[in-house]
Amino acid sequence: MPNRRQFLVAGLGLAAAPLLTRVATGAPPSDTAAPLGAKPISVRAYGATDATTPLGPLQIERRALGPHDVLIEILYCGVCHTDIHYARSEWGQSRYPCVPGHEIVGRVEAVGSAVTKFKVGDIAGVGCMVNSCGACENCLTGLEQYCLKGPTLTYNSPDPESGGHTFGGYSDKVVVTERFVIRIPPGADLPATAPLLCAAITTFSPMQHWTLTAGQRLGVIGLGGLGHMAVKLGVARKADVTVFTTSPGKLADAKRLGAREAVLWSDAAAMQRLAGQFDLLISTVPQAYPMQPFFDLLRLNGTLVNVGAMEQLQGIPGAGLARRRRSLAGSIIGGIAETQEVIDYCTARNIKADIELIRIEDINRAYERVNNKDVRYRFVIDMASLKAGEQAHA
Ligand code: NAP
Ligand code: ZN
Repeated sequence: MPNRRQFLVAGLGLAAAPLLTRVATGAPPSDTAAPLGAKPISVRAYGATDATTPLGPLQIERRALGPHDVLIEILYCGVCHTDIHYARSEWGQSRYPCVPGHEIVGRVEAVGSAVTKFKVGDIAGVGCMVNSCGACENCLTGLEQYCLKGPTLTYNSPDPESGGHTFGGYSDKVVVTERFVIRIPPGADLPATAPLLCAAITTFSPMQHWTLTAGQRLGVIGLGGLGHMAVKLGVARKADVTVFTTSPGKLADAKRLGAREAVLWSDAAAMQRLAGQFDLLISTVPQAYPMQPFFDLLRLNGTLVNVGAMEQLQGIPGAGLARRRRSLAGSIIGGIAETQEVIDYCTARNIKADIELIRIEDINRAYERVNNKDVRYRFVIDMASLKAGEQAHA
């Protein structure tokens, strides 16, 4: 491989500094060169400087490697609709510059002295969180996403380490404490695995919590990045899956993905026929919409789990919920152990995302296509294009 790097291990002379593993890119390191990760490093990134300007190239800083940190060279990063919400301040004022990206797969380039889970050269993943308090009752039960102090999100979160805010995966490299780094099993299809770190865990977690079992009816509302993973994961556990889509062009795709039925929201006859049938509905629609017709689809004790819209919800029928002891719930990603579980689960079963690989400079057009419901079914950025783009500009 022409780009293959030679990995060397070099000890540090400084007693106070952690022992770091160093990666060399060709010539052996000189005695005077600082080991990689010993100091903050400046890395290339792509992001938004405000809510309306297109995303463009940026330079950002990653912290010096602490004893528990892993430095990852980012190879691929999925494009989640959440990235658009944050880049465009759609969920309140974002922090700028905003470097989105929380479906990160890369190669470990250096590790801190106390790191045990990873070594240089390993393939690793980072999802939506990079830290949490680790001490509250939720963190202690593996539910770091519900950390009572608030998890540190991969981007746009206040960063206690730097005093600034976190930057995500549309970037060359990232430094993350090892507890929040996910192992990617050998042989995984890396670009198609990246989206599992958000799109799969966000839909897997409700299936686990609400114990979706074989033969139960699962409805997936919205066939985009999350929705298509929900179909695949529902089919894997032998649930009877129906997709509810606003896009006639996706009806055939839904069946190809394994759904038994695919229904247009506007198909009143089908909606009536399916009333009272569903055990679990997962709504992945990125904005509020009238939900009443979907509650009618739930059977006794059925639950509609909203993972998409984060604003005020619409059309929640008090009597409709009460009469069949139906529930409305929300859910956010999954904990770190559960994220590792879904990665291992999917890799073992060859479940991966349907992706369109793009270059970083295509990101603004990709955002437009996501907003137009025209993604089949996840864009993934080949991060080599970030390096190539910079060279072209040099
Ligand atoms: P996506 O790829 O854009 O898919 C959303 C799908 O919803 C669309 O493809 C479309 O499917 C349907 N839809 C219906 N009305 C729509 C409208 N007005 N505009 C756009 N789409 C519409 O998005 P995603 O990445 O799957 O994310 C979905 C939502 O979940 C986003 O709001 C995202 O921020 C959120 N999210 C939440 C979590 C969490 O932890 N809770 C994690 C990740 C993402 P049809 O064409 O089939 O109608
Ligand atoms: Zn996401």
